Amino acid sequence: MAVRVYNTLTRSLEALEPRVDQGSTLSLYTCGPTVYAHAHIGNFRAYVFEDLLQRHLQARGFIVQRVMNITDVDDKTIRGAHAAGISLGEFTAPFKKAFFEDVATLSLLKAETYPEATDPVEIARMIAMIRTLMERGHAYEAEDGSVYFRIASFPDYGKLAHVNLEGQRPGQRVASDEYDKEAVADFALWKSWVPEDGAVGWESPWGRGRPGWHIECSAMAAGRLGETIDIHCGGVDNIFPHHEAEIAQCECAGLRQAPFVRYWMHCAHLMVEGSKMAKSAGNFFTLRDLLEKGWCGREVRYVLLGVHYRAALNFTMEGLGAARTALARLDGWNARLIEVAGSSAGIEAPEAATEEFYTTLDDDLNISGALAVLFETVRESNRRMDRGELTPEQARGLLAWYEGVNSVLALEPHHEKEEMPAEVEELIAARAAARTAKEWKLSDELRDRLATFGWIVKDTKDGQRVNKN
Ligand code: AMP
Ligand code: ZN
Repeated sequence: MAVRVYNTLTRSLEALEPRVDQGSTLSLYTCGPTVYAHAHIGNFRAYVFEDLLQRHLQARGFIVQRVMNITDVDDKTIRGAHAAGISLGEFTAPFKKAFFEDVATLSLLKAETYPEATDPVEIARMIAMIRTLMERGHAYEAEDGSVYFRIASFPDYGKLAHVNLEGQRPGQRVASDEYDKEAVADFALWKSWVPEDGAVGWESPWGRGRPGWHIECSAMAAGRLGETIDIHCGGVDNIFPHHEAEIAQCECAGLRQAPFVRYWMHCAHLMVEGSKMAKSAGNFFTLRDLLEKGWCGREVRYVLLGVHYRAALNFTMEGLGAARTALARLDGWNARLIEVAGSSAGIEAPEAATEEFYTTLDDDLNISGALAVLFETVRESNRRMDRGELTPEQARGLLAWYEGVNSVLALEPHHEKEEMPAEVEELIAARAAARTAKEWKLSDELRDRLATFGWIVKDTKDGQRVNKN
């Protein structure tokens, strides 16, 4: 069975197929964080859903080429830098770093690249795209040097969100103190510099200014992945206007005027007591808040993963408690299997469960079904172990199966590996050099030094294996 996903554009389940000339490669663009604060776990619900998608597609043999942008210039980042009295770059740097630490804590696969909106290469792409839009009549410059997208020039505007914008079509010129736009819904491609922007700004054909948020994603997505992207994800709040605007910009500026995205996938919100978890609502937890309360990354991952991505997920502490129990069950089962498997050789896959976990996920990432397959396998094989009926070979087969399952779920404890500090990396490199030079005394000393940092080295036939104590 092919992998099927729900496409927001067509409002239907569709078989996910690569383009004919792309072999088994699928390109995936995921809207990334705005680095003005620590991402909250609502944001991470979106990133965990995208991670599950990528991991499952990889398990099904696709090559996933994923790009995630970093929004490091917008109203919020500028405001934050101004309030802190530091430069934009100084303000966003610690939040970028924290984001990547959180990515590691939640065992999220890294994207191939993380383009940043302030990168001069990206800014140049944005300016070029805006220029093309103006040349083709899809954009216009306002008196203050801001540039707007003319939505009246793109009849398809609204096709993703399925909204009717008739009321905002031509003839509806608006006079506003704030904007100098032809129509209310026209959105900014380029925002001319204002004193509150301080040192933030780039020169452009329309004077000093900065890009609008939507053009940032369009330019980075098309620049890195080409005019047509296979899959584009985000949370449902991104559908309108952000993704609608991305479509308008890319489809109007492209050379081939090809569809910008083939499959749009959006996850429902993480909720707290009936409301969307959001920074503005003040009802949010960051990952760090939860770690401080004694929860760990895999428990948070389990909670965010465990409900189908298109269903709202209500976040509670009880949910985290249930995740802890479920993971303890998996760990206990895994430990028992290891014991039963002993040192037996040969791998035999268990009969029933082998494919079902994957075929269940093929159905629009049916995670509850897939977890049910996993826990049914646990229950069934625990029972066989209770009766002493599971052979070492079967235990080995189940361990191999669980390894495959974890390439998708990433729930095993060793994924919580601590980031290796630079000095530990240096000691490991020095020890590798010492061993190559057969300086055994130095090698032993370096091993002891590593132990003082809490890192244990084992020498294997493939070289040093280092683990946090
Ligand atoms: P932002 O940093 O606000 O641009 O959001 C980054 C990503 O998180 C986007 O894909 C949003 O749609 C998503 N997001 C924000 N809040 C939530 C939430 N409560 N639940 C799920 N996804 C969210
Ligand atoms: Zn985006």
